[in-house]
Amino acid sequence: MTHAGTVSQRTLAGKCYCGVVHYAVADEFLYAANCHCSDCRRTTGSAFKPFAGIARNNLVVTAGEDSLMIFGDETGNNTHCKSCGSLLYSVVRDGAFVHVAMGTLVDDPTIRPTHHIFVGSKAPWFTITDDLPQYEEHAVARASGGQE
Ligand SMILES: [Zn+2]
Ligand SMILES: [Zn+2]
Repeated sequence: MTHAGTVSQRTLAGKCYCGVVHYAVADEFLYAANCHCSDCRRTTGSAFKPFAGIARNNLVVTAGEDSLMIFGDETGNNTHCKSCGSLLYSVVRDGAFVHVAMGTLVDDPTIRPTHHIFVGSKAPWFTITDDLPQYEEHAVARASGGQE
């Protein structure tokens, strides 16, 4: 998982619903999944949250930094636009990574969600209809050492 130098420098844009907050993130996500936990359902209002993970320093807020509503602290939070409420990304893993809420991406990332997690707490009214692997909770770790 350490291919520094071979990756393209493509950058993806993302923004909130009202357009006050814009961010840029490298198209170098290390993993992506659909999370069905109750927290992700509530923060998005959806059946699940498709998210993509990357080292925190690969994401920069390019507009509206003073309009962020950060629920949590430096080492773990959900970052929203405080004007419209969009969940943009979450800071996770002791502040080392961000999980971008993929619905806020403007550009099409190279990565696709590869599995479903926290299916054990999935909404009963939602049926998963694809063939991606499902995990009761976290996926069995395969990339916890990925740095960049
Ligand atoms: Zn907004
Ligand atoms: Zn979740």
